[in-house]
Amino acid sequence: MKISQLRQLQTEALQDGKIDFQEAKKIAALAETPADKAAVLKELSGDSFDLSKTERKQLEDQLGGKLSKPPSIVGMTLGQMSDPQVGRPLDITIVKSFSPPEGFDNKFQATAAAKMSGSDNAVVVQDNNGKWFAVQSSLRIDSKDFSANDWKDIQSAHGGFNEDTYKDLQQKTRDATTDGEKAAAWKTLAAYTYGVDESEINVITNHSQQKPDKININIGETPKGSDGEDGLTANLGTGTAEFKPGGTSAVEVNKSAFYDSRHAQGTLMHEGTHLEHNHQAQKLYDEYSNDPKKGKQKFDDWMKGHKPNLSEETQAIVSEVVASKSTKNTEAVAHFNAFMVDLTARDTSATPSQDEKFKLADELDGVATKPKPDDAVVKAETAKLQKFYDSLPETDKAKFKAAFAEVKRAHSGSWVNDLKLKL
Ligand SMILES: [Zn+2]
Repeated sequence: MKISQLRQLQTEALQDGKIDFQEAKKIAALAETPADKAAVLKELSGDSFDLSKTERKQLEDQLGGKLSKPPSIVGMTLGQMSDPQVGRPLDITIVKSFSPPEGFDNKFQATAAAKMSGSDNAVVVQDNNGKWFAVQSSLRIDSKDFSANDWKDIQSAHGGFNEDTYKDLQQKTRDATTDGEKAAAWKTLAAYTYGVDESEINVITNHSQQKPDKININIGETPKGSDGEDGLTANLGTGTAEFKPGGTSAVEVNKSAFYDSRHAQGTLMHEGTHLEHNHQAQKLYDEYSNDPKKGKQKFDDWMKGHKPNLSEETQAIVSEVVASKSTKNTEAVAHFNAFMVDLTARDTSATPSQDEKFKLADELDGVATKPKPDDAVVKAETAKLQKFYDSLPETDKAKFKAAFAEVKRAHSGSWVNDLKLKL
């Protein structure tokens, strides 16, 4: 079974907002092996359905598992668009989510997830609680006819992606000669890569030109990030990441990340993850600072005592960000997040080419060359990776295995070799 085929049927079925029984049966028929069935269940789990109880039961029996309820954002109305054929406005609804149920912390993560979903109707939306989601709308939003409902922000992700167009735009960045031409060519390439308006892209040549709410693309001849990465999340305008209470962080993607479109998208997810960790740290440190009863208590002890609901992993990450002595925890999570979205987005055959293996392993390379994270992070990330792997169709499982084999081969002494994954 090809995931692209599954997604195409799914998109067609969702055009009217819901998958009905006939459409669901057609999709389920694609699954041949138990692994295919698991993959179909996973793909359908974010969708909205129009099924009777018996129909749902029949479908679940056929697929050998439960269709989980979609995240609550699915089914909500984004806004209205006038339909010239009917002559009246049509509701545009959310038919699928590519986001965690609670949403993403920032726009950059949702932007990367929206583009990497491969959906022509991908939309990035911010709810009134400030959370960001990558979703699929029932119809492609044409901004000139669209009137939005009460959302904080809605951005159409300029659906679709064509590798040839990407290569042409890449070539234009090489052909550009003047500084102005270079900046313009990079702005166009980055906007295409991320499916955003050019106004969302800030092309810079050094850190002082960063803007906090834009995707900063650094095309200066500066070296890569200090740890050899293709991006950077740091204190605004400085390029240094030491924790400053009340400080603002900015996200940068280096031009080096654009050697491959997926990697450029994965890098934005990676940096968006660091930004999320910075936001968590700022929020908690602010609470700590304003707690009149904290006395001489250190931040870490205060966090343990006052935030019993925070996972051990989050505590380890926040503690690390505030102390600013290492980056191993936040790096591991950022690398794994980018790896997972990258893998999901690459629809290749069961036997990935050496080039594909290399590109996927590249997402893991950075984590293999860094020190081992704290135990709480290793434990939580192992569980996350295992759950992700188990949910994959056979073709993607093969890619996952190939990428890990490649990175272990290249870094035989790395802690990544000790990850207890059942592959
Ligand atoms: Zn990083």
